Order: sequence, then C-alpha cells, then structure tokens
Amino acid sequence: MTTVVKIGGARAVDPDGALADVARLVEDGEDVVLTHGGSTAVDETLAELGEEPTYVETPGGVVGRFTDERTMEVFKMVMPGKLNTDLVERLHNEGVNAVGLSGTDGKLLEGKRKSAVRVKEDGKKKIKRGDHSGTIESVNADLLETTLAGGYTPVVSVPVLGTEQSGGYTAVNADADRAAAAIAGALEADLVVLTDVSGIYEDPDDESTKIDAAATPEEFAAVEDAAEGFMTKKVMAAAEALEGGAASVTVASANADEPITSALEGEGTTLEPGVLADDGEEVAQ
Ligand code: ADP
Repeated sequence: MTTVVKIGGARAVDPDGALADVARLVEDGEDVVLTHGGSTAVDETLAELGEEPTYVETPGGVVGRFTDERTMEVFKMVMPGKLNTDLVERLHNEGVNAVGLSGTDGKLLEGKRKSAVRVKEDGKKKIKRGDHSGTIESVNADLLETTLAGGYTPVVSVPVLGTEQSGGYTAVNADADRAAAAIAGALEADLVVLTDVSGIYEDPDDESTKIDAAATPEEFAAVEDAAEGFMTKKVMAAAEALEGGAASVTVASANADEPITSALEGEGTTLEPGVLADDGEEVAQ
C-alpha cells in the first residue's frame, strides 16, 4: 500500500521527524509520496522583495489568496524551487533517492484555470480578473507509479497545470491539502496530513478534546462542526481524498518522533471511507 504524506507549511512545523520517518518506511520497502505546502514561505519572500500578498474576500466571507502574475512568479521560485529542492536535498541526506516534481511536470496535476473570481471589496461585489488558480481534475498516477517502481521517492509541490479556455496551459496555484488529497485518491493510498496540531479537536483550543477517529457520516458531521478556519479546508480535502478512492486520511502532528508511522498506527484523527454517505456523496455541510 502506498502512503501519501503532506507536510504542512505552517510556521510551527519542523519536517525533520517526518523526513527520517519517510527514510525508515522507504528502507522497509514501503512506497511513499511526499507532498508539501508553503504559503507562508511565499508570503515571506514577497515581503523580502518589498511586495504584498493579496488576499480577497468572497461574497460568502471566505478569505483566500489572489495569485496575480507577479505572485505566481514568486510562487514558482519558492514552492517547486526552494522548498521542494530543500526537501529533496534533506531526503538525500537521509539516504532516500528523492525526485522533485511540480504539478506541471508530466501533467502530474491538471485542471481548469479559474482566472475571474467574485470578491467583496468595500462592501461591493466585484469580479476580479487575472487570478492564477484552479481546481485539480486529473492526476497522472502513472508518472508517480513509474517513479516509485524505479525506486525513487517523489516529492510533489504545487503549482498545477491549468488549462485555459483557449486550450493553452498556465501554471496555477491550488491548495496543497487538496493536491495531496487528489494524489491519495488516484493512488488509492493512505493519506497522512502532518500539521502543527495533534489532530482535529472538538474544541479547537483544547488538545484534550481530540477526536480519535470518524467512520460514519454522523461522526464525520461532528468533525466538520469542530473544524474552524484552515482546518475546514483540510476536512474538505479529506472528504475529497476518500471520495476519490483513498483508503484512509489521518490528520496528525508533524512534530513527533515517527509522525507517519504513528499516524498509520492510530495517532491523530483518522477518517475512514465509511464517513461518506452510501451514494458516495459527502454528507450535507
Ligand atoms: P498547515 O499549514 O500545516 O497545512 P493549517 O494552518 O492550514 O496547517 O491548519 C492547521 C490549523 O488549524 C491549526 O494550527 C489550528 O489553529 C487550526 N484549527 C482549526 N480548527 C481546529 C480543530 N477543530 N482542531 C485542531 N486544529 C484546528
């Protein structure tokens, strides 16, 4: 069975434990695909360059990044550039023959570009054009399987390959948790999402209220109710992974000794395919 691991981009996440764990698993003959975020690093680099990230609010009140042309340039420098190369370098030091891949390589992650977004500015609804974002529609599982079969460990980062209405291609931003979910679904893998909290808590501020597992739509509804802010996106991504065919999704802390092994053994919050309603649709939000 393949394990897809997503390392969080949050400031409080140290990938060292996860990378050593990837090395142990690979040594044991397990197939591992590593994916990573890095939104914070993109913002830091923009700041160093004297530029500001643009965040917009949708009419529904959800705040998200607006990736204009310049931000996309910096995004390409930081995500598949520095962050991906750093992880590949560190894995080589752990004895893992890692291969860095961006979602654009071999059409690994492909989907329609959405360049116009509805936003609320100064209380008015507007359409803002020029966004470089998209939703993943297909995964080149064959590329990952071939890479794994060759004895390499893929390290995948966004951007993804966006298809334009005109038929051309543009690299676009996509949420890293959803990218990991799409990959886990396509490989029917276990997905381990490592972040700066030990799992999903009933009360987001109280670690002792961690939900250990959800296996039914009712239990999943409780998880959805508990998640706030960024965790909401992770729970949505988890549902997408399971709908796509993933065997399980576990949200667990990256800051542990063997974070992947222990997540696979039941640490964190584990979501099983049974959380989906019978017709395969996610239960009502
Ligand atoms: P990453 O950068 O690792 O992908 P995020 O910052 O996107 O992680 O998401 C993790 C954050 O979600 C936690 O630091 C926590 O503040 C927040 N969060 C919201 N609701 C919950 C919850 N119910 N349980 C745990 N964490 C939660």
